[in-house]
Amino acid sequence: MKRSHRQTTCSTCGSTDTISVGMEMADGAVRFWSCTECEATGWQRDGATIDRTAALANVPRR
Ligand SMILES: [Zn+2]
Repeated sequence: MKRSHRQTTCSTCGSTDTISVGMEMADGAVRFWSCTECEATGWQRDGATIDRTAALANVPRR
């Protein structure tokens, strides 16, 4: 598994004290982040914030 040390900025409080996990989706990598300051969570693709629905819409269905 690849690990990135790039920090994700919390879109709620602006803190960079976040934990993020990269995931490989069907059409590219997305990143889930969780803010340790305000406990907000979110998703990013290519550094841009995306909707949770959009992130999970690309999970391959069986
Ligand atoms: Zn935050």
